[in-house]
Amino acid sequence: MEDKNPSMELLVGLEIHQQLACSTKLFCKCPPVKSELLPYSFERRLRPAQSETGGVDPAAVFEFSKGRSNKYFWSPESSCLVEADEEPPHPLSAEGLDSALLVARTLGSTIVDEVHVMRKIVIDGSNTGGFQRTAVVGLGGAFDVGGMRVGVQSVTLEEDAARILGEDSNSRHFALDRLGVALVEVALAPVMGDPELVGRVALHLGRILRSTGRVARGLGTIRQDLNVSLSGGRVIEVKGVQKLNLLPKVVQYELARQSALVQVALKLRERGVRQVGCATTDVTGVASGSGSNVLRGKVAEGGKVVAVSARGLNGLLGWEPSPGMRLGKEVAEVARANSLGGVIHSDEFRRQGIQQDEEALLRKLAGAGEGDAIILVAGPSAQVDACVPRVVERLRETVSGVPAETRAATESGETRYMRPRPGSQRMYPETDIPNIGVTEQMLADLAKAVPQNWEARVSRLADAYSLSKDMALKLYDSGLDTEFEILGKELKLEPSVVASVLVDVPARLAREGVRQEALGLEVLAQVLRAVAGGIIAKEAVPDVLKAAGSSGRGVEDAIRSLGLERADESKIRAVIASVLSRHARLVREKGDAAFAPLMGEAMKELRGRADGAVVARILREGLQRAGGQY
Ligand SMILES: [Zn+2]
Repeated sequence: MEDKNPSMELLVGLEIHQQLACSTKLFCKCPPVKSELLPYSFERRLRPAQSETGGVDPAAVFEFSKGRSNKYFWSPESSCLVEADEEPPHPLSAEGLDSALLVARTLGSTIVDEVHVMRKIVIDGSNTGGFQRTAVVGLGGAFDVGGMRVGVQSVTLEEDAARILGEDSNSRHFALDRLGVALVEVALAPVMGDPELVGRVALHLGRILRSTGRVARGLGTIRQDLNVSLSGGRVIEVKGVQKLNLLPKVVQYELARQSALVQVALKLRERGVRQVGCATTDVTGVASGSGSNVLRGKVAEGGKVVAVSARGLNGLLGWEPSPGMRLGKEVAEVARANSLGGVIHSDEFRRQGIQQDEEALLRKLAGAGEGDAIILVAGPSAQVDACVPRVVERLRETVSGVPAETRAATESGETRYMRPRPGSQRMYPETDIPNIGVTEQMLADLAKAVPQNWEARVSRLADAYSLSKDMALKLYDSGLDTEFEILGKELKLEPSVVASVLVDVPARLAREGVRQEALGLEVLAQVLRAVAGGIIAKEAVPDVLKAAGSSGRGVEDAIRSLGLERADESKIRAVIASVLSRHARLVREKGDAAFAPLMGEAMKELRGRADGAVVARILREGLQRAGGQY
């Protein structure tokens, strides 16, 4: 069997969803703003419709089977009747289309002759109409990441989904403000799944997108999905990686998870099990007197317990072929996606309080032999009935290793089961929107708008202003590179000082917990003006920003309240004279070597109100004079 061991080669296809910076949403005139107050709401229940080819999407059936409704909260400042699906969509935003076309052109994609808006079935409730509008604008293309060519499959203009607010057992709650916001989806050709490489590719693509100047910035404006498959196996879709630095973790997690599932399948083959036969039995009677508190509790609440026997799986549900990866965990996730708390399987019976005699009874009732496993599904009757077929389906898939499914990325970089993978029945034409021809004139205008390569831009910043490559890159990534150039010219400050105040200081303060919103460009520019005008020393910048950030007061106020107006030379002289006289003995004994400690003390006393170079000069003079005295 040794040669059957998987080579653990992972293929990863990235899909990046990036909001576009537009003045309106894609199919109405509402502005793309986030609403803090959502005073109105309505409720909907979506059902899976047959597509035109007669099929029904398995993902749609799955979501519908959960039997929940969706509640939408909205504000007239950010939503209208289009988002509520009460009014037909307005014509496609020309601004959104132009931006998506520019992204496609920048990536070297072939632009389509005609843009066709399609409806893609979405039934998780995130779209009020049960579909998302989407239009391919470009196909093909490529870019280089550190000498490696990465292919582009497609560039698509889409409307964003509603924002999830939360859920209870009966309904999911959404905010409509994000629904309909224009976004561009870039689907990349699969790359070998070296986790770090996947992170680098995403970072690079993000920079290309930002080079167009047409994309939105900030948290929640970019989202990565991954299509992951192991050694040509079935494709797992991982949705919603929000932070770039989580991508390598997610890939690593999937590599370990999928490898473990392949190991379980190999074990089954060794055991000669070609099919995992399952049988289900109601064991509520036994569970009412179970040694497991969980089971007794479920029965006491009026629920029921079903035992699923699984042929040949004994010992494999609790087995960890890689750390933390167990088949039992996978089955529990399926139960959780179906509104139950999880499952109890026979590999953990003792730990759950189910003793040998109870297990023997369960095995007898469920018809499970020694080599078989038992999975107990417990909870409210209707939910158990809906969940058991899903659990059976998952157990049967064990022989094939990794079942195709859609998973969600967690905040810690793991993934969890969401639903089966959608079928191919998901797209049909949006007849409310006419097709849009791409004209020669549009193509000519696009060719002129293609931005400078971002790497060239970073090199130019570094060279022109004698910045380190790293600082130039940080400036570019912050999106403040143009402002940096403008402010530098206006204020005649050292470029490195301007760059540090725009990029490094805010990053450091953010780590110390200062609100990012308090460190906007206008505030940073005011502080820089105060430095340029000689009102404060550059050493005082962090304190001023911290005070302005935590109090919400203006920069001027913060300077005054901190007493941080720059000390003039006579003030500095007075402070140094007092430091020298307090430490006369130290000066006598150490001479010039007293400089470092006294410098520290003087700077502490001046609390950033003075330029370090001036303090040092005056202190040196003082020490020299003192040397003459003693
Ligand atoms: Zn609207």
